[in-house]
Amino acid sequence: MPELPEVETVRRSLEPRITGHRIEAVDVRRRDLRWPIVDEFEERLRGRSIRALERRAKYLLIRLDDDATWVVHFGMSGTLLFHESRRERFDKHDHVVVDLAAGGQLVFNDPRRFGSMSIHEGDDAQLFEGVGPEPLDEVGFNGEYLFAHGKRTSRVLKDVLMDQRVVAGLGNIYVNEALFLAGLRPRRALRRLTRDDCERLAQSVRTIISEAIEHRGSSISDFLDGVGRMGGYQWRRRVYGREGESCAACGSTIKVIVVGQRSSFYCPTCQR
Ligand SMILES: [Zn+2]
Repeated sequence: MPELPEVETVRRSLEPRITGHRIEAVDVRRRDLRWPIVDEFEERLRGRSIRALERRAKYLLIRLDDDATWVVHFGMSGTLLFHESRRERFDKHDHVVVDLAAGGQLVFNDPRRFGSMSIHEGDDAQLFEGVGPEPLDEVGFNGEYLFAHGKRTSRVLKDVLMDQRVVAGLGNIYVNEALFLAGLRPRRALRRLTRDDCERLAQSVRTIISEAIEHRGSSISDFLDGVGRMGGYQWRRRVYGREGESCAACGSTIKVIVVGQRSSFYCPTCQR
């Protein structure tokens, strides 16, 4: 599932290619994504120009010239690919095709259809009500923030960091990686951490997310950026998906346990 670094990678790959371009035609080939694409979608997009590409949490925000936003969520398996020249033939999982006036084409493909696509009018406040701070925002997300949150919850670290209301954009890959870097086990309770532990954890989250963006996300299952390139972070994984392998830091065997119905990978020596 695309997490923050993958969505940011898509944003960066598409930004120079589609910003300023006018949308000429919109073809919704299948409407029943996670939430149905509304009937007005095509009419709302047609003729608009793309003003900017932004991201919040795991959402790609394509700003239009009438101040509306074309909101894309990639779900489990969605991709939004830019093609220099228009294609005529499509895959059965190509659900939305957008032709740009300059000749390019955007194709949203999503085999599992957990993704979504909508038009949002006005500002983002309503759209992201209740969504936690961005992990790279040091003012909103830091050790003190986690320490204070620990006073209000008995949940374990893995569950807390996966919760989009606590911090936006993290998923299973980067939560596992951040916990390894912080030296903390997935099942530790947040409320048992010291201020220093919380500071180290917040810093580890930022380090991992920055590194993952720098390496253009993880292509572990099927992630591709906006022009079809794979990411590179999968080669740098410390623990995620590496059960039974040796920890690069200490040589211990990496273990897997299930926390909150998701696999959690950790080194029993480096993480306490
Ligand atoms: Zn280790």
